[in-house]
Amino acid sequence: MNHKLVIGWLYPELMSTYGDRGNIITLQKRCEWRGIGVEVKRLDIGFDHKLLTTCNLLFMGGAQDQQQKIVAEDLQKKASTLKKIINEGIPGLYICGAYQFLGKYYKEADGTIIKGLGILDLYTENPGINHPRLIGNIIIKCHPEFISGSQSKRDSDLRQNDNEGTLVGFENHGGRTYLGKNIKALGRVVKGFGNNGIDKTEGAIYKNSFGSYLHGPILPKNPSFADLLIKLALEKKYGSPINLSPLDNSLETQARKSIAKRLSIEL
Ligand code: GLN
Repeated sequence: MNHKLVIGWLYPELMSTYGDRGNIITLQKRCEWRGIGVEVKRLDIGFDHKLLTTCNLLFMGGAQDQQQKIVAEDLQKKASTLKKIINEGIPGLYICGAYQFLGKYYKEADGTIIKGLGILDLYTENPGINHPRLIGNIIIKCHPEFISGSQSKRDSDLRQNDNEGTLVGFENHGGRTYLGKNIKALGRVVKGFGNNGIDKTEGAIYKNSFGSYLHGPILPKNPSFADLLIKLALEKKYGSPINLSPLDNSLETQARKSIAKRLSIEL
């Protein structure tokens, strides 16, 4: 059977910082190299919410607060559709500002509240201009204890390669995210700041949706994660287990290793 995926790219014009667009290119290429058809739908301000239900995989990148405010208004109009498909298990990757949107709210440095979609049990606050932004290269480990019950299979997928589920990225955020009781972190911070610079958690997992502060972009540096998203999307669409053919990741491995070396971590 010829497999095909539709990737919904949310707000490519306004939500794409620090190379987040590279995530789309990675997903597209890793599908194409395996003969999997891909269509990327650009979902910019004013898009018809019904388009969301035609997507098999969603991606949304980060942005500055100014852009976030504009997007937040549009996104609220799509909140119920997005919530429905996320709850149904449509896989998605949400980076930084997008990740903050999935929570209850984002409080800007001046105290302004940007309402979130309330899909994930988390909130984000920027403590103000007297507090430093959390910037730099980051390494996290996706340990099993960060990933609950039915998701343990997914954890083993992530750990097949890439040195036991180690994710490498770059973060730059003023917001500090705090997870509630009903949500699991994506990983534990090995080097860097993560969700809030204090509790060592990074990102969040809910059903097949992943939130993270890792720009960089995250997927070219972490090909197992890209493949996990592709696999989840195909399995959800076709309803049967999918084994992706292996690809040569030697360049990606070198990139990961060089970042790790800078942070004095051995990969
Ligand atoms: N505006 C958010 C913050 O600084 C998100 C930044 C980003 O997406 N890079 O916390």
